[in-house]
Amino acid sequence: MKLQQVSDNCFAVLNERNRVCDANSGLVNLGGGVVIDTQSDLPHARRMIELFGKVWPGMPKRVVNTHEDGDHVWGNQLFEGAEIIAHRTVRELMPKVADPRETQQLLKAAGRLPSRWLLKAVHPGALAIARQLQEDFDFDGIELVLPTTVFEERHVLDLDGTEVHLIYVGPCHQTGDTIVHVPNERVVFAGDVIFRECTPMGWNGSYEKWLRILDLIIWLDPEVIVPGHGPVCGIEGAMEMKAYLEYVREESNRCFGQGLTPLEASRKIDLGPYAGWHSPARLYMNVERAYREFRNEATDAPWDHAKTFDAVYAVAKAKGIPVEF
Ligand SMILES: [Zn+2]
Repeated sequence: MKLQQVSDNCFAVLNERNRVCDANSGLVNLGGGVVIDTQSDLPHARRMIELFGKVWPGMPKRVVNTHEDGDHVWGNQLFEGAEIIAHRTVRELMPKVADPRETQQLLKAAGRLPSRWLLKAVHPGALAIARQLQEDFDFDGIELVLPTTVFEERHVLDLDGTEVHLIYVGPCHQTGDTIVHVPNERVVFAGDVIFRECTPMGWNGSYEKWLRILDLIIWLDPEVIVPGHGPVCGIEGAMEMKAYLEYVREESNRCFGQGLTPLEASRKIDLGPYAGWHSPARLYMNVERAYREFRNEATDAPWDHAKTFDAVYAVAKAKGIPVEF
């Protein structure tokens, strides 16, 4: 993990490995400080606090969660007594979406026999992601701490005269998606609206909405964007995400017309310039999302996680690329 200053008063802590759950955190170091997203586990959250601690005068009293996924909220408990701010839906959905027990149980099952054999036979993708998560994280001791302040469309913080705008943009990647804009410093903390140099994993929301929100970020004209995952960028990061989503939607549409399933389509679609991004087989999730739209299905239909990871695994195997989530 590394600390990076991105403007006079804004900072980022980046997880450079950039695999699943390697989420970034942000800091607006004014008015008592605001931390944006709190990492995937307690060791990473502690390291984030240590790195930001090099520049802040003391533990911030405010935290923003950009959405409800575990990799952005599982360090909340280390900010005791802080105001935790998020969109209304984040507080509603977090207990289900970010229940740490599901991940803890999967890792336990992967770690001992005979459940490991069973997992290997029935859900090889779930076993593979569990092994990867075991290498990178330690999910012990996580207790869910929910947002204490929720908002609907917008929420403005005044930090010693510098405004910080929380803008609700969901659902595009996930229901509660929020971006954090610091106009004076020309910085946007984009949450998982932007994945950089890694393949996006979107859950709820439509392509149309996601593309529209990427346009909004470009329109805000930031000098610096801190993505939810991957290195810091300028607006080219938003443009690349747009190009990826447009490419996958178009390719998926062609395959849909040929009667292929999402898995068959994902095997067939050329990774093109995105082969060099981390976890390219996560393509499957974006194809599946496109298919939901082509079939006029709900964009918030639930995902079978084990089956999804199996499909990502199968796509990696079919393409002859390393299995990476
Ligand atoms: Zn994330």
